[in-house]
Amino acid sequence: MGEVRGGAVRRGGARGRPASLSPASQSLTSPISLLLVKRRAFVSRIATTVAVLSGAPALVGLGRRDADLILRGGTVVDGTGRPRFVADLAVTGDRIAAIAPRIADRGTREVDCRGLVVSPGFVDIHSHGDGTMFDDPMMESLVRQGVTSIVVGADGGSRAPSGNGEGDGTGSVRALLDRIDALRPGTNVGTCVGLGTVRGVVVGADDRPATADELARMVALVEQALRDGALGASSGLEYTPGAFAPLDELIALCRPLAARRLAYHTHMRNEDDRLLDAIDESMAVARGAGCGLQISHLKTQGPRNWGKLDDVFARVAAARTAGVDVAFDRYPYLAYQTGVTNLFPVWSRDGGTARFFARLDDPATADRIRAGTLDKVALIGGWDNVQITSVSAAEDKPAEGKRLGTYAASRGEEPYAFTVAMLRRNGGSVGMIGFAMSEANLERILQHEWGMVASDGGAFAMSGPAHRGVPHPRGTGSFARVLGRYVRERKALTLEQAVRKCSALPASRIGLADRGVLRAGAFADVTVFDADRVIDRADFIDPFQYAEGFKATIVNGGVTFLDGERRERTGRAVRRTGRG
Ligand SMILES: [Zn+2]
Repeated sequence: MGEVRGGAVRRGGARGRPASLSPASQSLTSPISLLLVKRRAFVSRIATTVAVLSGAPALVGLGRRDADLILRGGTVVDGTGRPRFVADLAVTGDRIAAIAPRIADRGTREVDCRGLVVSPGFVDIHSHGDGTMFDDPMMESLVRQGVTSIVVGADGGSRAPSGNGEGDGTGSVRALLDRIDALRPGTNVGTCVGLGTVRGVVVGADDRPATADELARMVALVEQALRDGALGASSGLEYTPGAFAPLDELIALCRPLAARRLAYHTHMRNEDDRLLDAIDESMAVARGAGCGLQISHLKTQGPRNWGKLDDVFARVAAARTAGVDVAFDRYPYLAYQTGVTNLFPVWSRDGGTARFFARLDDPATADRIRAGTLDKVALIGGWDNVQITSVSAAEDKPAEGKRLGTYAASRGEEPYAFTVAMLRRNGGSVGMIGFAMSEANLERILQHEWGMVASDGGAFAMSGPAHRGVPHPRGTGSFARVLGRYVRERKALTLEQAVRKCSALPASRIGLADRGVLRAGAFADVTVFDADRVIDRADFIDPFQYAEGFKATIVNGGVTFLDGERRERTGRAVRRTGRG
């Protein structure tokens, strides 16, 4: 696996000063974690060696000077899944310097964490947080629920490559990551390369196979994106133009992932009636390309498909036995979010919005579109299982946050006709939430050995430019909800399991060896929360409510959030930096 580290490391300033820790050997009586300062220059002497817990690496050493930050007396849940233990955690610069039962030194800043959980900052492997990032880089709703790294470029759509990405690099992943470094967002940000984006750049919006020349150019764009630091490739096979990619194209575009040990992340072609076919196709891509597979937001959509989860898990087990590295992620909600056009058949959207509207007008196609759409609406349980989230037309603003069936009726309109008219008024762009999932299945997906947590959400704020529309609450509550509802209230997971599924497991899927775990030498991405109080507050009616129960979030050693207040922005671009 290629070595991965954060982007341009900023030195200097208070947190950049060299510092180390003096020995705390007098307190090393309980079997706890390791102590180490990775930068050897800062280690002034070697301390006592002690036996350590459950196969943890041996104690290495401590320097003499104070740390920049010490989190005192917290209950450490380190992300690996092993049992919690009480310890101090010292941060020097952007790294964890030590974790020990009692660190004798003083920190420039100290935080009393007694009675609180100290865990790795959460790694959101499927995020749309870049939607607001350039307008409001605080990433407020994320750091307030412990998220310290996000991976964007999901569902086949990434900000790069774009237009001229092939030649001068201005639209390249490299340029995007440089721009993120310059922005200094509230969280670390990495990206997948979107295979739908790549198809759009080379083939355009049409539903046709790529020519041999176009395929070669697409593969070259993927290769370049990975060389530039992309952390994987994503597809969105329910979205245009990504949906027009056949299996052999997806295999060709994913081959460059294999040697780099990166994964193909897919929003599959179907998540309801043809779920199992879509799973088979996803695994065929991974098998054909020889890469890992990350199934995005795994679900069994629609009550009539809830019984398919056993078959899904059987396929995962068989694929893993056959050597395919399959895993999946899921947000902890029973509703999904997409565009209203997603209720319409894919073929009707071929070629873009203008042609979609033309087909709605064409008597030769209008009835078939209507029938396909009504079938999809029936699948999720009717028009009132669709909630409108965001529109641009002033006339439709009152619809935001409303159930589609009830709202259309309130205007005296038939829901299908209303939906078509609303799409026209909004240029085809209307956001929606669909309620169609099973909580029992959600818990089984989260509990599965290869299941992990992702938000699939954006980054929001209670005010300013990141206060936008009526978004799915998952962007503000996912990680808090897992800890509050699924660990504490429903006991679906232990705290140790849940933290691992929010940190080390997703980090490993994107090749980040130095994030997602608490150990000396790793990046100091840390969150501190009260396991008895942590909970999401955002809901589908009022999504602009921050999670509760978090005391502090540390990003690259910088205090990003503490005691209810926002502090520094210390996020960076996260790049894959291995060979090739
Ligand atoms: Zn998706």
